[in-house]
Amino acid sequence: MTDLLPSLRALRDAAPRDTAERDTLTRAVAELERRVRPTFQEQVTEFHRALDFPVRDTPTVPDDDEVRLRARLIAEEAFEVLAAMFPVFDWDNIVSRVRYVVEAARVGPVDLPALAHELADLHYVTSGTAVQLGFDERAVLNEVHRANLSKFGAGKDHRGKALKGSGFVPADVAAVLRAQGWQGGEELR
Ligand SMILES: [Mg+2]
Repeated sequence: MTDLLPSLRALRDAAPRDTAERDTLTRAVAELERRVRPTFQEQVTEFHRALDFPVRDTPTVPDDDEVRLRARLIAEEAFEVLAAMFPVFDWDNIVSRVRYVVEAARVGPVDLPALAHELADLHYVTSGTAVQLGFDERAVLNEVHRANLSKFGAGKDHRGKALKGSGFVPADVAAVLRAQGWQGGEELR
């Protein structure tokens, strides 16, 4: 069954976006992935190894640049969540101020247990939001993971952020939600 997944994913990726065929293949991939799922942390580890990002198996406070990069990514994603909820508000000013703090403020001393605790809280709240919005978070994570892995080969920019390569196939989250019974997005088809 594991061998089937890559060819099924390739079929899905070759199908035109926003078609019934694509949605059926997306459903089939999601079903197979459910049956042969690695943990989410294993998937993210795979992504880090592919891009030569740091991977550690002992609790560690990394150097300031690594802390800054993680802070930058978390702030970026947090503001993207807020922008999806309040799309009319102009976030540019506050985003650039937060970006300045992340680049210029002194890092640490980092309390690792406190940081790990807050990251767990963030994860908990994120999953709670998925529960309340009624979607299968794992299927969406799988789709985002697939898209992130397709960034292979393009390397990283000077800040260490993964660059999008020519094989990059963006995440089709709308198809994943439709496979879960979402009726919206008709105007996009
Ligand atoms: Mg907290």
